[in-house]
Amino acid sequence: MCGIVGYMGSERSYEILIQGLKRLEYRGYDSAGVALVRADGSLEVHKARGKVSNLEQVAKGGDTSGCLGIAHTRWATHGEPTDTNAHPHLSQSGKIALVHNGTIENYSVLKQLLTDNGYQFKSETDTEVLVQFIEYMRETHGCDLFEAIREALLRVEGAYAIAVVEQGNPNTMYVARKSSPLVIGVGDGETFVASDATPIVGFTDKVIYLKDNEIGIINRNSPIEIREIDSNEPSSFDVHKLKMSLEQLEKGGYDTFMLKEIFEQPATLRDCVRGRIADDGSRVVLSGIDMNRERFLNAERITLVACGTSWHAALIGKRLIQDFCRMPVEVEYASEFRYGNPVLNEKDIVISISQSGETADTLAAIELAREKGAFVYGICNVVGASIPRNTDSGTYIHVGPEIGVASTKAFTGQVTVLTLVALAIGQLRGVINADRVREVARALKEMPETISETLKIAPEVEALSRIFTYAHNFLYLGRGYNYPTALEGALKLKEISYIHAEGYPAAEMKHGPIALIDREMPSVIIAPSDSLYDKIISNVQQVKSREGAVVAIVSKGNTAMNDIADYCIEIPEVPECLTPIVASIPLQLLAYYIAVNKGKDVDRPRNLAKSVTVE
Ligand code: GLU
Repeated sequence: MCGIVGYMGSERSYEILIQGLKRLEYRGYDSAGVALVRADGSLEVHKARGKVSNLEQVAKGGDTSGCLGIAHTRWATHGEPTDTNAHPHLSQSGKIALVHNGTIENYSVLKQLLTDNGYQFKSETDTEVLVQFIEYMRETHGCDLFEAIREALLRVEGAYAIAVVEQGNPNTMYVARKSSPLVIGVGDGETFVASDATPIVGFTDKVIYLKDNEIGIINRNSPIEIREIDSNEPSSFDVHKLKMSLEQLEKGGYDTFMLKEIFEQPATLRDCVRGRIADDGSRVVLSGIDMNRERFLNAERITLVACGTSWHAALIGKRLIQDFCRMPVEVEYASEFRYGNPVLNEKDIVISISQSGETADTLAAIELAREKGAFVYGICNVVGASIPRNTDSGTYIHVGPEIGVASTKAFTGQVTVLTLVALAIGQLRGVINADRVREVARALKEMPETISETLKIAPEVEALSRIFTYAHNFLYLGRGYNYPTALEGALKLKEISYIHAEGYPAAEMKHGPIALIDREMPSVIIAPSDSLYDKIISNVQQVKSREGAVVAIVSKGNTAMNDIADYCIEIPEVPECLTPIVASIPLQLLAYYIAVNKGKDVDRPRNLAKSVTVE
């Protein structure tokens, strides 16, 4: 969601900024823009609603030279997605240009103050208020731009990552952050700025992660300087080595990132499990748990907090922890938890799950949990993101950059890590028996082969997808471990094909949704051979007797469903607790092919953002 790119170096700024914006497209956005400062100090801004390619069209007619620039992909929070509301925004004098990710909570108070002082606004954004306020600070305090930005930020409430440049100064760019990520890439004679590292990959592998409440001065002729916004004291920083490669960012021969990511899952699950199961398969080794043995031994309850797909993984995590650790577990939406006055103390463990590690609600939830004394454990994909930096301990899922907005490999990675976490806590607390650990650990180690086998059904699912392309509604039903799988399958379809779909616990269906079933309403039933298989058969019969079409996901060789369901998709058999990982593969494929049949942009579905950095 919303992206920032900045560049200071040679005359090729525009090219690098546009390429950077394109790499950030995966985050989802509604408009884009760029501001360039030329060597003679003149400032030029181009902006356009829609894709970065629209911006390129608009900029074509103007001057795109410049050795310094800032660029942005916007995901509107204040004001419609229009050309005018797109960033960069300029101050009243037209001299200061700023791009911003996040929201300024007290913007209306500031706007009133500025209006009272004769400022006029072109856009409806909170961002324009910020850039005007910076200029107001400069004028009323008679200070330089750095000091004016700092003074303004001291008075601003909300979340931001910003980059600022100024007419007449092709040698300086300012950046700052609070609750929204910002990375600086240190190149040879050039410096990059971005809201995540993807635009920087391939240019330099030296990066500095700006911390909350820091402001950075990037000057062509002197070393990077970072200061604390509050105290104006210099802030120490480390230069990290970036591990992402260019190849990892490309589509690898697939039509879309989403398809590439679905097919990558054998490899990503291998990476996810690597080094975390003892060679003899007898133990799970997670340093994040081993190093905090006392907290896990003394814990009385675990609460999982997450949003969206990660919340579905959390529901599976609940069952895993209950089964393997026999302790109370709760699952909360992070957005509800943070305002729900939760009862927590030092005997609580809160596990937060987020692909990007930047999800605003999840970040706020863990902050609250830590304040109340809980031990916070993070499960995250993006190394060095805000969540892993703000948790007591945790485990990365290590599935590589997920570019498709609809999560696939991150979901299976999260469920895999949750399985490892549950096994590790269970064995630490002496609850799970050794044979069970071995059985699940072996199946996890074999998961890459199992998923490769599962992916062979892709052509069959593609053929099936054509039958359902024009359905308007879908029901997804599952029980036990696969009730959350049903929720995730429905979400995937909704996200990328815009077909309404609901996930339901199969037995609950008869308490309401059954009223919807008719010839027009297909149901996808997740029914691997597990402890609830016989029960789910009778749920399927209830659907069939109302003439609804049924697609059943069943374990290979189990033919009991053949006579009842209209279509059966077979998946390899695995221990019950791992069926959500395997069963989600056909569900990802079904959603994918239906969306492609409908001509949808599967990698960048409308209205959605990859990392939701606003409340
Ligand atoms: N709040 C700003 C706006 O609506 C920034 C949104 C974003 O993060 O892209 O323009």
